Amino acid sequence: EQVSIGVDVGGTKIASGVLRGEELHDRQVQPTPETGWEAVLDAVAARVRALQEQHPEAVRVGVGVPGPLNVERTRVRFAPNIYGFTDVPLVDGLEERLGQRVVLENDAKAAALAEAHLGAARGTSSSVYVTVSTGIGAGIVLGGRLWRGRHGIAGELGHLTVVPGGPVSGAGLDGALEAVASGTAIARDASYALNRDVSTAEAFALAAQGHPAARRIVDRALKYIGVALADLQKLLDPEVFVLGGGVASVGDAFFGGIQAAADEYAAAFAPVTIRRAQLGTEAGVIGAALAAQQEET
Ligand code: BGC
Repeated sequence: EQVSIGVDVGGTKIASGVLRGEELHDRQVQPTPETGWEAVLDAVAARVRALQEQHPEAVRVGVGVPGPLNVERTRVRFAPNIYGFTDVPLVDGLEERLGQRVVLENDAKAAALAEAHLGAARGTSSSVYVTVSTGIGAGIVLGGRLWRGRHGIAGELGHLTVVPGGPVSGAGLDGALEAVASGTAIARDASYALNRDVSTAEAFALAAQGHPAARRIVDRALKYIGVALADLQKLLDPEVFVLGGGVASVGDAFFGGIQAAADEYAAAFAPVTIRRAQLGTEAGVIGAALAAQQEET
């Protein structure tokens, strides 16, 4: 039985735990320090040490981060939705602190790995996992393996330009999918329309009650995501899409809107099979731990 530590560093939370076989133990969620990446690394290292004290056999450590990595997977190029992360040498920083090997993975690729091995895409050989949260990311699994591409950026779905000239993303691109359809974009547009602070969850709730502006904003976001899936179907034709992330947890309204748009835009070619992520908020941690187990030593 393999045992490894997984850490999922998000913009607001750091989730971590020990993966033993197929089960996650000692899962914990703590706030992400806001004082820069050195403080983030200190927090991650302290947590890893604490977990290793309880689980000395958990030697391998995987860390997921919400941004594209360099090809060697030693640095994060930038993390559009975490302030201050630009070309950060995360692996060096963590290995110095811990005195041991650390494996880095993109958060969406980690979750894709988890869902492909232990979740909703288990048993398939091709799948695309999409997370819709603060940003939008994806992990592409082909032939049972993550497809990274030449530069390691394959799957950066949130930065596809879907509305040239539209709102600008954290990566500075106008009309990027995540700038028009992420949880952040929905909350921004709903807040503007209602002239007060509206969360993503509230925007969905208002839309469900028939509030016209909220409906328009939510429907538009879901349509953009559905169209993107239809495009990916035409490009990659995977067996299944798995949708997760904070916004997916609103449930039926989210999946219904996306499936409808995906069907509309891919129907002439093939059906789009969309499944709900099974591992929920644990996917990132489990995937980071799996990434550590898969790494050659
Ligand atoms: C980043 C991706 C990440 C996604 C979800 C995007 O803004 O570019 O690397 O996977 O957000 O966190």
